[in-house]
Amino acid sequence: MAERLRSIIRDPGRIRRAEPLKRHTSVRIGGPADYLVEVADRHELSRLLRLAGEEALPVYILGSGSNLVVSDEGVRGLVLRLTGEFARIAVDGSTVRVGGGCSLPKLAHQASRRGLGGLEFACAIPGTVGAGLVMNAGAHGGDMAQVVAEATVIWGDGRMERLCPGEIGFAYRSTRLQGTSAIVAEVVMALRPADRAALEGAMRQHLNRRRATQPLQYPNAGSVFKNPPGDYAGRLIEQAGLKGERVGDAQVSEKHANFIVNLGQATARDVLTLMDRVRSTVERRFGVRLEAEVKIWGHNPWFPP
Ligand SMILES: Cc1cc2nc3c(=O)[nH]c(=O)nc-3n(C[C@H](O)[C@H](O)[C@H](O)COP(=O)(O)OP(=O)(O)OC[C@H]3O[C@@H](n4cnc5c(N)ncnc54)[C@H](O)[C@@H]3O)c2cc1C
Repeated sequence: MAERLRSIIRDPGRIRRAEPLKRHTSVRIGGPADYLVEVADRHELSRLLRLAGEEALPVYILGSGSNLVVSDEGVRGLVLRLTGEFARIAVDGSTVRVGGGCSLPKLAHQASRRGLGGLEFACAIPGTVGAGLVMNAGAHGGDMAQVVAEATVIWGDGRMERLCPGEIGFAYRSTRLQGTSAIVAEVVMALRPADRAALEGAMRQHLNRRRATQPLQYPNAGSVFKNPPGDYAGRLIEQAGLKGERVGDAQVSEKHANFIVNLGQATARDVLTLMDRVRSTVERRFGVRLEAEVKIWGHNPWFPP
């Protein structure tokens, strides 16, 4: 396998074997990936997908790892990270063409420097454009659905397709692409000319608000549960008396109840056991069944897909 991978990825530094994924997730949890491969262009990606098909290897796409809980046993197969051409940004007037591997905060700051508005909400979402699209990431009243004009995806069988927003099927923190083999290679966004100072001011405000309300001093994976219709997961968890609840080194944040923080040596088992406890307590108290917002990779009897 290593040899076949090296025939596709010329730079051996972009192939890592038995790579602990805790190094690549914001919550600092996760066992090894058989292979973590940095993919620089579409040609490499299509060859890797062909190889995975031939060898019946599962394929995972890793963005910034900011919405992920990876099991302690890790994952088998190929974990791919989009770099190179997938991280590029090209601006033409108020249209931005950006690779799926580009960082959302970086894109938001570059857009504002050019006086392009619409992405201020994304300045504090520590993920990539591709994952942001699939999740319909959003904050402060904005979300990806409001700016995306088109997306190019590559399906697991190597087929490339351009999708318009209607085909992407945006909904609250989800799209029709979730749970499919679609890899977001590129996104076209329609932004609007705006005053640069006003955009930077809005982003500063968003960032300050985050610092005040989120437990950013501890490793975490962002909001753990989706907000149920008409309510907030954090409010329900707090009202259920679960702030500070702990399993091992995983703790429901004292600062924001919809965050689980890693106090040091938390495992995926700790986090998932705690999430399960939170879900059942909230359901018992309020009759609301919370749905996980974080994505879970590998062994997971608690929150089956
Ligand atoms: C402190 C903090 C604050 C956060 N605040 C917010 C917020 O305000 N709003 C919000 O929406 N989210 C928030 N998040 C969650 C997270 O940042 C977003 O969900 C983000 O979109 C995840 O991007 P990522 O690149 O880190 O994805 P990852 O965690 O790496 O992956 C998440 C999922 O996306 C898939 N994926 C990754 N890249 C691609 C691709 N190119 N094509 C197809 N699938 C892909 C992965 O396979 C996985 O299933 C926050 C997280 C943290 C840690």
